[in-house]
Amino acid sequence: MLSIKQLQKSFGSLDVLKDISIDINKGKVVTIMGPSGSGKTTLLRCLNGLEIPDHGHYQFDDGFSLDFSGKRSKKDMLTLRRKAGMVFQSYNLFPHKTALENVTEGPVVVQGKDKQTAEKEAKHLLDKVGLADKIDLYPYQLSGGQQQRVGIARALAIEPELMLFDEPTSALDPELIGDVLGVIKELANEGWTMVVVTHEVSFAKEVSDHVLFMDDGYIVEQGTPRDVLENPKEPRTKQFLQRIL
Ligand code: ADP
Repeated sequence: MLSIKQLQKSFGSLDVLKDISIDINKGKVVTIMGPSGSGKTTLLRCLNGLEIPDHGHYQFDDGFSLDFSGKRSKKDMLTLRRKAGMVFQSYNLFPHKTALENVTEGPVVVQGKDKQTAEKEAKHLLDKVGLADKIDLYPYQLSGGQQQRVGIARALAIEPELMLFDEPTSALDPELIGDVLGVIKELANEGWTMVVVTHEVSFAKEVSDHVLFMDDGYIVEQGTPRDVLENPKEPRTKQFLQRIL
């Protein structure tokens, strides 16, 4: 679906992504693991245009491409934003909007859908993530796991081609993690193309088709979950897995 070549991103003098090339295949789940500060969040943010890479090339299979070494238009960046739905570590819901309003915001404001259609679709999505009875509640009235499931419904509402998850369960109490991972597993089974940053090794083993291990702005090792998580070759991958298991 998307081929990324030689992606680079710096913040001032800090080179955060040094030379990242990845192929993301349609209907597959790519998991990204790696120590804190290795550039995982920045990579996801570059994938949907929340950060603009300094260098690199994106080629989508529908013919849309972006070359960050040259000029790119606002229209192209907007196209990129609409291709990928993002689920954030800290949910990032609008605090003064209900669950339903959080989910309809994107379709109505960004995509210009009529409110009635957007509400009907949003109710369906909230039902899908197990929140049919919570649609009129505000974020502060919901548990962390429920807020994150609203976050997932909100990302799905813009009908993206690609779903990006940035450590979606890392802010949750252990007993709430399972529900959120369950929703993500269901999406994987439905054939969504997804990129998931996570430290949940058993989840990554179960759900991902491809695992990337990042360190210091590079992809150090990649392959099937069995290759990378059970038989890692690189010392840095081995060391990381020993630490978190
Ligand atoms: P990870 O997700 O692997 O923990 P990040 O992508 O969040 O890594 O961060 C990688 C590095 O980039 C860190 O050193 C972080 O402090 C830095 N960084 C991230 N975003 C910014 C920013 N907007 N401005 C300056 N530095 C940043």
